[in-house]
Amino acid sequence: MPRPIQAHINLSALENNLRVARRAAPSARIMAVIKAEGYGHGLPRVAEALSAADGFALLDIQDAVQLRENGYRQTILLLEGAFSTEDMSLIAQYDLACVIHAAWQIAMLDGYPGREKLDVWLKVNTGMNRLGFTPQQAAQAMEQLRGHRAVRDITLMTHFANADEARGIAGPLALFNGFAAPYRVPRSLANSAALLRYPETCGDWVRPGLMLYGASPFADVSAQQLGLQPAMTLRSRIIAVQELRAGDEIGYGALFRAEHAMRVGIVACGYADGYPRHAPGGTPLLVDGQMTQTLGRVSMDMLYADLSKLPQADVGSAVTLWGEGLPIEEVARAAGAVSYELMCALTARVPVVT
Ligand SMILES: *Cc1c(COP(=O)(O)O)cnc(C)c1O
Repeated sequence: MPRPIQAHINLSALENNLRVARRAAPSARIMAVIKAEGYGHGLPRVAEALSAADGFALLDIQDAVQLRENGYRQTILLLEGAFSTEDMSLIAQYDLACVIHAAWQIAMLDGYPGREKLDVWLKVNTGMNRLGFTPQQAAQAMEQLRGHRAVRDITLMTHFANADEARGIAGPLALFNGFAAPYRVPRSLANSAALLRYPETCGDWVRPGLMLYGASPFADVSAQQLGLQPAMTLRSRIIAVQELRAGDEIGYGALFRAEHAMRVGIVACGYADGYPRHAPGGTPLLVDGQMTQTLGRVSMDMLYADLSKLPQADVGSAVTLWGEGLPIEEVARAAGAVSYELMCALTARVPVVT
């Protein structure tokens, strides 16, 4: 028997979640965000499951080239744009689109020697202060890009810092719309949270990521309430059972001490598989479909499951760390993390099955 941990990727959940995005943004085109290996779900398989999307957004130019070579005809956008003039040549050659977020990229465009033109997405910084030109700077950047010998189509974009929070998007949206008003070019603003909560942000292209993988971007609305299905289920099994007596301790640092006799299951899953090491005792997990909790400290290859209320559980019992039956958001919350992190953290040693 191989080590029993597996990540199950549910392709029909990805398809379902794309349909949810379409229903929420019926008049926009959908740019499926598949950065970070499709949020840890695996790139070729995610692109295939989401092939009904109108575009794909990612960071790595080699991945973008590979998608094109695999026959995808959609818009393929590089979210951090080009890092070199060689990148620009590949962008032109493979008909990719690139974000322009800083003056150095415009300077690179000025020095780009090729003849083919590039599609660019000009990024406007509306308050996140990560990438992009402030509205004042963006007006000048727009002048440089319009009519630039190396530029074909221009799309305007921004990214919201608080679409999933009470703060919302009103201020940044007004800034963006104020800037974009004079220009007749396509617009793209919304991530998952914005497209689900603020239809007025949908514009010409929406850019959902998280929701496609079946997690809710909101603390107060569950994925199920949004009609989303989890795409990733991390499963393993119990490989040993310890019978503790009162006073016995478990794990590194002896963070848990039994108050009375109890059974503890050893699960073949640890932080080297991508389970968060900082998940404290009490983090939820399913054993044989029953809700229970972790105990003690997560180690590299194993963690402890409380079996005190599960007398039937034994070596071989099925364990769900997150996914179907246990929303990843709940595990993330208990671990002081976000579901994005947990998905992306899955490591290469975990076998994936679809
Ligand atoms: C990651 C990313 C998205 C997707 O955000 P989600 O919250 O996962 O929907 C959209 N736009 C940009 C620019 C991003 O970097």
